[in-house]
Amino acid sequence: SLRGKCAVVTGSTSGIGWGVVSQFAKAGCRVMFHGLEEESQITNLKEELASFSKDKVAYSSADLVDPDQCRNLIMDANRQLGKVDILVNNAGVQFTAPVQNFPPDKWNWLLAINLNAPYHLTRTVIPQMYDRKWGRIIYIASAHGKVGSVNKSGYCASKHGLMGFSKSVALEAAGTGVTSNCVCPGWVLTPLVQKQIDRISEENRISIDEAKMKLLSEKQPSGEFIRTEDLAAFVVFLSSDAASQITGASLSMDGGWTTC
Ligand code: NAD
Repeated sequence: SLRGKCAVVTGSTSGIGWGVVSQFAKAGCRVMFHGLEEESQITNLKEELASFSKDKVAYSSADLVDPDQCRNLIMDANRQLGKVDILVNNAGVQFTAPVQNFPPDKWNWLLAINLNAPYHLTRTVIPQMYDRKWGRIIYIASAHGKVGSVNKSGYCASKHGLMGFSKSVALEAAGTGVTSNCVCPGWVLTPLVQKQIDRISEENRISIDEAKMKLLSEKQPSGEFIRTEDLAAFVVFLSSDAASQITGASLSMDGGWTTC
């Protein structure tokens, strides 16, 4: 149980982040969830989270493109939850184009959210974790943190970067009670991936089901999507005391995608 711990999960109004923050609430954490939606748009989600635990549920709509808003997110969590013991850097975006057509503004936007924001959040949160001699920082990287992919130079650069960053933080934090790890999922069926499935279906004039099969068969040997709740259970385990010696690791849950 993570009773008494306070957890912040970025990008948790949908997809993987929502699965993770829900399981933290069920495991007894006080949680802050986060996304770009206004407070008024997330009332139902807030009620659902509150139904999982008796503890207070906080929400932030910080735009992680902005370093000041990253810092404010942590300060806001400190105010609303009292402290931050667990930070899951999950918010992430995708943009696909061959490198010669990859617009510089899209590149900067993607790197700002996927790589720079985790840096700003980590540097703001880690001093209090050192003070309490306990902390868990988890980065949702990707199979694309380990291998490249056509038309995904920005995304792959951001996720490979996250892995190097997490390893360095882990070494700095070694022996302090604070761990830093990357989780590297393969295909998980979330809104981010659904957009890619819709595009494959349109471009190849095939059904959505056929597009799903095409997407999986190109990369994921298991031929099955990873379930959000399984990924979330893994993140909860990494946040537990049993995982105190797992640090600096880049742990795959990818149906065999990056096996070599
Ligand atoms: P999603 O699109 O369902 O959710 C993304 C979340 O990020 C949303 O809550 C959104 O509000 C938030 N977000 C986007 N831009 C933001 C910004 N500027 N500021 C603040 N928040 C912002 O995505 P998902 O599929 O659940 O992906 C979550 C993470 O997992 C991402 O980092 C993604 O790269 C990674 N990932 C996903 C898959 C997959 O198959 N779905 C695979 C590997 C890695």
